[in-house]
Amino acid sequence: MSTTLRTLLACTLVTLAAADLPAQQASTPRARKILDDDHYLASDALEGRFPGTPGNDSAAAYIARELRRLGLRPGGDGGTFLQHWTIGNTSGTRAAHAAGAAVVNVVGILPGADRRLAGQDIVVGAHFDHLGRGSFGDPAGDTTHQIHNGADDNASGTAAVLEVARLLKAARHRPARSIVFVLFNAEEEGALGSAFYAEHPAIPMDSTLAMVNLDMVGRMRDRRVIALGVRSATEWQALIDSANAPLHLDIRASGDGWGPSDQAAFFARKRPVIHFFTDVHEDYHRPTDDWEKINADGIADVASLAADVVQRLAARPGPLTFVDAPPPAPVAASSGARPSLGTIPDMGSEPGGVLLQGVRSGSPAEVAGIRAGDVLVGMGPHTIANLQDFQNALSSYHAGDTVEVRVRRGTQVVPITVVLGGR
Ligand SMILES: [Zn+2]
Repeated sequence: MSTTLRTLLACTLVTLAAADLPAQQASTPRARKILDDDHYLASDALEGRFPGTPGNDSAAAYIARELRRLGLRPGGDGGTFLQHWTIGNTSGTRAAHAAGAAVVNVVGILPGADRRLAGQDIVVGAHFDHLGRGSFGDPAGDTTHQIHNGADDNASGTAAVLEVARLLKAARHRPARSIVFVLFNAEEEGALGSAFYAEHPAIPMDSTLAMVNLDMVGRMRDRRVIALGVRSATEWQALIDSANAPLHLDIRASGDGWGPSDQAAFFARKRPVIHFFTDVHEDYHRPTDDWEKINADGIADVASLAADVVQRLAARPGPLTFVDAPPPAPVAASSGARPSLGTIPDMGSEPGGVLLQGVRSGSPAEVAGIRAGDVLVGMGPHTIANLQDFQNALSSYHAGDTVEVRVRRGTQVVPITVVLGGR
């Protein structure tokens, strides 16, 4: 599909969303404040919050102001809310044009109410950076330098963390343990801000009970929330179920702590982690990830869930029972473009394969006739039972390769020939 047509379509969608959604997307004062925060962070003025740009700095200043207004204690450098660091010089950061940038994480602390427990903490985090204007990170290889606003990724999680801070600050019982709110920078370049924080924590890692990550929580549909990392502590499932009892969210919990976001740095230090998110979508890493499509009532619900989980963690007599897992196999370094199929997996269920919630417009998958509802079960010689299998299978090919993909459609397994694209 041509860029012009794509832009046209995107504009139509935005217009429809703007006309249809506001009434139900922010129906309470809480949700309206959340939407205000998301709207500001995802506004064109901030140009996609790329690390090392004025827009990214403005986002950090906005977050720090909100934490200060709430009366939190600064957890950054020299009595400020800002933790300064510099993005390292690696092939990855050079490719992303982020190497050497001077950036900040934003850190605020709600001190624990119980003197004996206040030296221990729970980290509530989200990354606030996004892709800026670059083509870096856009699977379509967008070269038009449009602003990638990242309203869902991850202005939504940032707004949610601020809401959790407001909820806990206003709670009748202040949490017994300290709560450290951290807004990470440079997640999109490989979760760099959380790696820096884990090296330089406000409260020592040994005293950190758990990390709650909010990354992409702005597109809730059918009250569905995914909880990744539930296997990182034996108590997570029961904790989440208790917190969810008054909310009735449809929570799909799965996975170990090696998630594709900021929780990994904490899991690597053997901290239990949980990552709430509301799944990927057609606008993921595209210029069309805009605030008009945000479900702010959904963010409010995720924030309520997270705040309650944190309260329960803060009040526990002892730590959680950590469950380790081996790190995922490194993706083989390949030359040239990484192969892509253009499928949008449903991360919430693994029905003996990878269930697709959609395919990208104009992608190899769409061109070949793969469609929403199909379950990927095989690729060439590979059997696909889950997302990891799919990753492994895909990474054994190159962009441009012709490959037979097998999908389960209804009761049948259908072979489909696909020419892989690149990204
Ligand atoms: Zn992202």
